[in-house]
Amino acid sequence: MPNAAILAVGTELLFGQTVNTNAAYISEQLQLLGYNVLYHFTVGDNPGRMKHALALAFREADVVLTTGGLGPTQDDLTKEMIAEEMGVKLVLDKEAMARMEEVMLSLGRKNYTENNKKQAWLPEGAAPFYNTAGTAPGFALERNGKTAIALPGPPREMEQMMRESAIPYLAKKSDSVIYSRVLHFYGIGESALETALLPIIEGQTDPTVAPYAKEGEAHVRISSKRASVEEAAAAVNLAAERAQALAGAYLYSMDGEEYWEVVVRLLREKGKKLAAAESCTGGLFAGMITSVPGSSEVFDRAFVAYSNESKAELLGVAQETLDLGGAVSGPCCREMAAGALSHSAADIAVAVTGIAGPGGAIPGKPVGTVFFGVAVRGADGEPRVSVSGKNFRDRGRRVNRRVCVLELCDLVRKELERD
Ligand code: AMP
Ligand code: MG
Repeated sequence: MPNAAILAVGTELLFGQTVNTNAAYISEQLQLLGYNVLYHFTVGDNPGRMKHALALAFREADVVLTTGGLGPTQDDLTKEMIAEEMGVKLVLDKEAMARMEEVMLSLGRKNYTENNKKQAWLPEGAAPFYNTAGTAPGFALERNGKTAIALPGPPREMEQMMRESAIPYLAKKSDSVIYSRVLHFYGIGESALETALLPIIEGQTDPTVAPYAKEGEAHVRISSKRASVEEAAAAVNLAAERAQALAGAYLYSMDGEEYWEVVVRLLREKGKKLAAAESCTGGLFAGMITSVPGSSEVFDRAFVAYSNESKAELLGVAQETLDLGGAVSGPCCREMAAGALSHSAADIAVAVTGIAGPGGAIPGKPVGTVFFGVAVRGADGEPRVSVSGKNFRDRGRRVNRRVCVLELCDLVRKELERD
């Protein structure tokens, strides 16, 4: 299995102004290709230190992928340093020059300054990776059993070049592939999930089964590294089925779908329409549902009823209910769900009202106290409503609200699976 290192280039990375997301992306792709990623290096736009970092990376790994520093300006030095380190000179790549002129001229002549031409020079003997999302080409260069792969810094350009050029190039050098699937669970903690899955975790080296916590839910990555993708997929699929048998009650996706994607898919399958009454989530649930393409077929409307007045006005919550138990209460939630159903054309309406924090806690109702409601039309046309109260652990306002959205998705899924 080939060893790899990633060298991210750019002073802005060392300053913390830019987060090194490229390294994470490249690492993930390398894993899938069956490479062992041994190191992430980061270095500023400084020739001496870049050369030093390259030498270090090449001492430890057979394949070094760089990102950044391929542009037209004085501080873009990666290509020059790779050429120096590998003992080759730079030569003009006519194709790169022609492509760059085309892009530059299409943008208007005044943008085409002399320093742009620097981008068309590549190390002698390099396989060029033309940039279809920008101008700076990347390349692969092999010398003395070592391979350098140079990629641009802007994430969109880097990812496109990985997909189009670097991944196919690297796949040919690897003797194995990794296949993985991510299973999504809701309503069970990471450690309880690990316990439930112990029969497929303990003593296993391939496939590997790795649970991890993810803001209110738990994910399990199942990966296998084999000679062929078919073999790896077969091993992973078998383990995924066993995971389903062991903890299926909490499993909402076997293919890495988000919960709102699953909800939209199920609603479409059942031909049902959804509405929501949202207090503490302030429209976040509707936002997530409508982020899914095709949601217009199944999502009718959301009432963002944040104030007491709006709960009364939009959803018909009785003033008495608000006076007696407050807005964060089971009875209020029940009326919100029923109101959302009767004020809409939906088959299912969900409601949420709770305390998202950090303020707003009242005696007996700490941050994380949330009520959820589901209303469906009964046989007699009257709404049938069920309400549940939860005491979530306070995980900060953003995650608290996200957990409410997950719980709403869970309620919709369970309602849909009931009939
Ligand atoms: P460069 O090609 O080095 O001039 O980088 C151009 C831009 O790409 C930088 O200003 C950053 O915004 C972005 N960038 C560079 N390297 C990275 C990285 N490792 N991760 C994420 N963004 C990056
Ligand atoms: Mg730079």
